[in-house]
Amino acid sequence: MQRRRVIQGLGLGVLAAATTACSREAEGPAAAADGRRFRWKLVTTWPPNFPALGTGALEFARMVEACSGGRLSIKVYGAGELVPAFEAFDAVAAGTAEMAHGGAYYWKGKIGSASFFSAVPFGLTAQEMNAWLYYGGGLDLWREAYAPFGVIPAPCGNSGCQMGGWFRKEIRSAADLAGLKMRIPGIGGEVLARAGGTPVTLSGGEIFTALETGAIDATEWIGPYNDLAFGLHKAAKYYYYPGWQEPGTTLEAIINRKAFEELPEDLQQIVLTCCKAINDQMLAEFTARNSEALVTLVEEHGVELRRFPDDVLRRLKELSEQVIREGAARDPLYARIHESVRAFQARSSAYLRVAEDAYLRTRDL
Ligand code: CA
Repeated sequence: MQRRRVIQGLGLGVLAAATTACSREAEGPAAAADGRRFRWKLVTTWPPNFPALGTGALEFARMVEACSGGRLSIKVYGAGELVPAFEAFDAVAAGTAEMAHGGAYYWKGKIGSASFFSAVPFGLTAQEMNAWLYYGGGLDLWREAYAPFGVIPAPCGNSGCQMGGWFRKEIRSAADLAGLKMRIPGIGGEVLARAGGTPVTLSGGEIFTALETGAIDATEWIGPYNDLAFGLHKAAKYYYYPGWQEPGTTLEAIINRKAFEELPEDLQQIVLTCCKAINDQMLAEFTARNSEALVTLVEEHGVELRRFPDDVLRRLKELSEQVIREGAARDPLYARIHESVRAFQARSSAYLRVAEDAYLRTRDL
């Protein structure tokens, strides 16, 4: 008991130590003696069993249960089953659920800088997001941003680079963005608006019909795997790349801090280590499934794959920088996070230019 009180008093120190859980010696008799059982609820922003994202949350719960020998069991709820998708953060802050799984950019109305912890236009790739979060100070900034709400964030999945989206008409120049009605959330949507388009917010289930009936001219969603499952190729002919708006989207686990601190240390370490495992596993799943689905879309469904012209990308990049600069001018935490990402990205880009980027070009020689 004394040991437990000491651990609880350590607060974030435990959190830091717990992130290296698997490299530590098991705590032996003390942990084994704590046979208490915990039952948690995890709410998600995804439809139940949604490919890769919802199934990732289910896999997380399965993994925690197995690693803890059943001492921590987590029941996963799809969007709307316990709380609506966009109330997941508040549900964890209030303790209605101990955990949530979603994407940080959904909370940008509450925390202006939140998008940096999922994806910002022309920002970090999946590999760079992990490097920045774990080794570049990103995770500390993320914890700081969420701390006032009594919740702890953890990276828990990544979609990899998304696609630019589905368009009913070709985009030949930046002028074609004017008047374009497109489902595109977040900062990407703000950028489209500055380019003269009309961003529309639609939940996943509404996208297909809106695109098929012409209520919208275009939509971005995720990547080939999820886009194929939604049948978006039946509603629009042109499939554009790259996903400038979401170059490597991190998914998140949100943990109620009080509930976390009530866990014995080994269970705390299991929760954070399983988040790390899912963070890794989901990116592997997306990479494998997206590659397969892209072949299906092009070879079986005759989808027209198109790269955005350079002048379109240049314009979008210019406008993205403008939107982000304005955000930094309004909010000191946003400014600090932006500066951290900016400095990291500059170094990382210089390195990747002579590493992965250069290598991929030579592989295609
Ligand atoms: Ca997307």
